[in-house]
Amino acid sequence: MMKLPGVYIEGVWQHGPHPLMVINPSNEQLLAEVAGGDGAAVDRATLAARQAFGRWSNSTGSERAKVLRAIAEGVEARRERLVFLQASNNGKPQGEAQMDVDDVIATFRYYAELADGLDAAQDSAVALPSEDFVARLRREPCGVVGLIVPWNFPMVTTAWKLAPALAAGCCVVLKPSEVTPLAELELAAIIAEAGLPAGVFNLVCGTGIAVGAALAADPRIAKISFTGSNGVGVQVMQRAAETIKGVSLELGGKSALLVLEDADLDLAVELACLGGFFNAGQMCSATSRVLVADALYPDFIARLKARAEAIRVGDPFVGDSEMGALVNQLQYQRVQGHIAAGLKAGAQLLCGGSRPAELPCGYFISPTVFTEVPLDSALWRDEIFGPVLCVRPVASEAEAVALANDSEFGLVASVVSRDRVAAERVANALQAGLVWINAPQVIFPQTAWGGYKQSSIGRELGPWDLSAFQEIKHVLSAV
Ligand code: NAD
Repeated sequence: MMKLPGVYIEGVWQHGPHPLMVINPSNEQLLAEVAGGDGAAVDRATLAARQAFGRWSNSTGSERAKVLRAIAEGVEARRERLVFLQASNNGKPQGEAQMDVDDVIATFRYYAELADGLDAAQDSAVALPSEDFVARLRREPCGVVGLIVPWNFPMVTTAWKLAPALAAGCCVVLKPSEVTPLAELELAAIIAEAGLPAGVFNLVCGTGIAVGAALAADPRIAKISFTGSNGVGVQVMQRAAETIKGVSLELGGKSALLVLEDADLDLAVELACLGGFFNAGQMCSATSRVLVADALYPDFIARLKARAEAIRVGDPFVGDSEMGALVNQLQYQRVQGHIAAGLKAGAQLLCGGSRPAELPCGYFISPTVFTEVPLDSALWRDEIFGPVLCVRPVASEAEAVALANDSEFGLVASVVSRDRVAAERVANALQAGLVWINAPQVIFPQTAWGGYKQSSIGRELGPWDLSAFQEIKHVLSAV
């Protein structure tokens, strides 16, 4: 069992006063004890970040790009360790943990490119309808930012915030999830070796109440970038409002996969399983509702059941597991609660719904598929955050779109069709921030991440995320 410091301020590791017990969800064993911080640590970290801001915000884009590339290289060099930590702390299969590492590397490299471009783009001329004045637009880093991340893709969510914040010239206080801090602790060690001036990057592990709330309330922090549940998102926004902080929020989803009548059925089944069971369904973008053209429905259901039942569930380090455990006991109980409530509401269980018999230990739930789910049930409407799909036949494309859009969320959606024109038409009609057509849930740093309605405020990734960490200044002079 590892005993680790959970606070990193001004380039120095410290042991905070609040121990966090980090569990391996595949065997329920204690994996590490992390000495997490509190409000006082947030205070010190924010002060260190403030003091470092002058120097870092005045560095050139290419200087910042160099550091971002060094972080990407450090991640590459410690790939095996990061895969091990992600797989043991999250319970995800090693192949999925590899993808996470690849994503982190790609994200730091992409924002290094954008940072390189900043030197030429920091000031730009503005055309005015008057010859008596000239104006220029200047982009500056917005200040010290607080980054609060969840447990489902810990290192990835962190990279999506940290890379653009550093590229923009901001200083950072990062709060990892108390459930999965290990990958971020390793990332902090990599950052410590990457040539970043002390105080630019600070980390305080700890609970939401002790650390996250203090970050959201601190008046010296210019912006909070938060990814997590809607309930906590509301609290973060309320706290941030007291000091008029900027917030960007990445919250929940209840995403739909639409299988149109000319779809390739094998592909549709594969995409439903990937969307529903990747990361054991613990994805904000999880495919929760599958809407299948009437004519294909019986065949689709039969193939989906066979495919879901064939998925190998288990410990990432044993055999060739395709799907791992849920992250902890709380999440396991929550998902079991959703399944029980769905059955009570009258939904029909097609497969799964409980722990695989051969896995008596660990927070495992078999890939689960429901049909005949009442449209007003929590199973149909609420985010489950577990390996649970709800499937429903639809009579027309219009009905599929209407049902897909009938949600308070609007994060992502998927369409399966051989008819490119129909698929593009449906994509345009969907209220979602990202629509995949005949594609798995691939995400490139160049494209925007975020959703409509109650799924998000703002967009991550792409140039939008760099802008999210910048202030805009106009300088207007009389000629
Ligand atoms: P959560 O909201 O419980 O916690 C997220 C983070 O907020 C954690 O670091 C937690 O410690 C912190 N926190 C908790 N209370 C706080 C408070 N009062 N003030 C400030 N911070 C506080 O979420 P989770 O259970 O870790 O993650 C699952 C949720 O995250 C799901 O709802 C999922 O949809 C969402 N999510 C969204 C995206 C996206 O991109 N839209 C990505 C991943 C996860």
